[in-house]
Amino acid sequence: MIEPVVLHLPYEISEKQLLMKLCLRENSPYINRILELALKAKEIAKPKGLIKASFIESKANDCVIIDSIEFRSRILRINLEEVHRVFPFVVTCGHELDLWSKEITDIFESYAADVIKEMILYSASANLKSYIDQKFSLSSASNMNPGSLPDWPINEQRSLFQLLGSVQELIGVELTDSFLLIPVKSISGIRFAKEGTYENCQLCPREKCPGRKTPYDPDLYEQKYK
Ligand code: SF4
Repeated sequence: MIEPVVLHLPYEISEKQLLMKLCLRENSPYINRILELALKAKEIAKPKGLIKASFIESKANDCVIIDSIEFRSRILRINLEEVHRVFPFVVTCGHELDLWSKEITDIFESYAADVIKEMILYSASANLKSYIDQKFSLSSASNMNPGSLPDWPINEQRSLFQLLGSVQELIGVELTDSFLLIPVKSISGIRFAKEGTYENCQLCPREKCPGRKTPYDPDLYEQKYK
């Protein structure tokens, strides 16, 4: 077992993408104010990540024991078939940015701040994954996140936090009794080496999801995970 490492993550916000996400046209009177908000967010934001290298101790039908902690998910178990080491992580936009956004009272500006936080989170998250891949020489890797699929329910966040240790003390992310992460713009998961691509979305039939990364494959569960 290797101790958790705190990462202060770089990030980018594309002004063009921000304006597109907010559906603002070139002549919109809101543009200057939204770009001011993005600038302010950049001054304040300190996104962070916590990662660890952990070892798989045993595997059964629908569960995996990692560093003596049990995780119950058939899909996770099968995705980890070929590996003995995994990389649990939590990444967050940071409480500094979260506090800033909570002081914004205008409804549209508050929505824009939410979009900015999400963009910073996703950019920081991409950098965290690149860090893991480089540091541990993963040529191809995938993630699973508790709560993304019924097979790996959200209450497994507790085990993930147990695996990582003092998440709140180290990066300020709190796990509530209902298994939500605070700041809300935070992501938890396990990264692992995997040939080919795996995305939770391949097994998720939810329609019109704005976060969908890849199409739903209705046959995949039967073919690979049953
Ligand atoms: S489709 Fe949406 S809800 Fe389903 S796994 Fe992908 S991002 Fe999550």
